[in-house]
Amino acid sequence: MSGPVDYRLSPDSDGYFGVYGGVHVPDCLIGPLQEVAHAYHRISRSADFIAELRYIRKHFQGRPTPISYCRRLSDSLDGARIYLKREDLNHSGAHKLNHCMGEALLAKYIGKKRIIAETGAGQHGVALATAAAYFGLECEIHMGEVDIAKQAPNVARMKLLGAKVVPVTFGLRTLKEAVDSAFEEYLKDPVNTLYCIGSVVGPHPFPLLVRDFQEVVGIEAREQFLEMTGNLPEAVTACVGGGSNAMGIFRGFVNDPTELYGVEPLGKGPKVGDHAASMTYGTPGILHGFKCYLLQDEAGEPLPVYSCASGLDYPGVGPEHCQLRDLGRVKYVTALDSEAIDAFFKLSRLEGIIPALESAHAVAYAMKLATEMEQGAILVNLSGRGDKDLDYVIENYGFGDTEAK
Ligand SMILES: *Cc1c(COP(=O)(O)O)cnc(C)c1O
Repeated sequence: MSGPVDYRLSPDSDGYFGVYGGVHVPDCLIGPLQEVAHAYHRISRSADFIAELRYIRKHFQGRPTPISYCRRLSDSLDGARIYLKREDLNHSGAHKLNHCMGEALLAKYIGKKRIIAETGAGQHGVALATAAAYFGLECEIHMGEVDIAKQAPNVARMKLLGAKVVPVTFGLRTLKEAVDSAFEEYLKDPVNTLYCIGSVVGPHPFPLLVRDFQEVVGIEAREQFLEMTGNLPEAVTACVGGGSNAMGIFRGFVNDPTELYGVEPLGKGPKVGDHAASMTYGTPGILHGFKCYLLQDEAGEPLPVYSCASGLDYPGVGPEHCQLRDLGRVKYVTALDSEAIDAFFKLSRLEGIIPALESAHAVAYAMKLATEMEQGAILVNLSGRGDKDLDYVIENYGFGDTEAK
């Protein structure tokens, strides 16, 4: 008889989580990526690096973030109790700074002068620009011209923080082209530059590195929840775009009897182009240098995706999630735009917490689950705050006085 399975997975030496992940990149990128992997293995275990990251989390980011019990929301559902891990209170308003500070600290230890990344809606760009300002690193963010026009406040934030925003003017001028452009720029000078990815995606070692930097969320949450309630939660929910906030909190509970739910955006419904539910409707394929469940056409090209939450509209998903799905350890479920909007209004009105639309997907599924469960506790990773979504919500749905459109 073998003992219990350890679900704290690691990629193998080729960067595979089971059959997912790997390094599917042009030859010229393999060397620089291996260098990053080697440097990470060495530096991340050093006492100096660990101590500096701890100091930053406490004194700059404001960690640990608290857990809040949602009394009025739970009472209104008359089922399981709902709790939130408050990543909206992490500095800059979301979980993304957890891995951006780690990546920028790594850049400093390797001796890189410049960090570079792409951004879609601008959230990753702002978090990375924040980290660059803290460390005094040069920062270059590649962003499609179309997104630059749509996301003026985030473009302004990046510039205020001292980053250079590079407009990408080819193709559809959105996220995919921004990735290509940032990688091209990285290749010009991999000696002085570190590419900093925005989620647990991309070629090895990025899914590992980002996961490790987000794990703090799960470690804190498990300890805090036990102290607060004396028990583990029966379930944990987190929204899944690329999967970094979900991997972070799942790591804390993956070897416990707690049910784990990754919530994907079902957008307007299951029709192609109306959602971004890669686990639910995707098939294995290759995207941005790694293998994963992918929404793809017959030629293997990524399909158009949509969600009201711009941080979730990605056609792929991190490789560790894909393996956890195949192992049956995590269930991947969905929430519609309309359900996320309803949760956005309820959490605002009943708890005084305005969530990011991404996080509202995890709240929406927890509300459904709470009613089904009748008792017990559900912990939601509230990945970010909703200030960035106010204009969109009010313009399209008013103040929530009537049913969501
Ligand atoms: C970017 C973002 C997400 C989605 O990214 P993951 O890597 O899936 O966590 C979720 N919530 C917020 C608030 C975000 O900014």
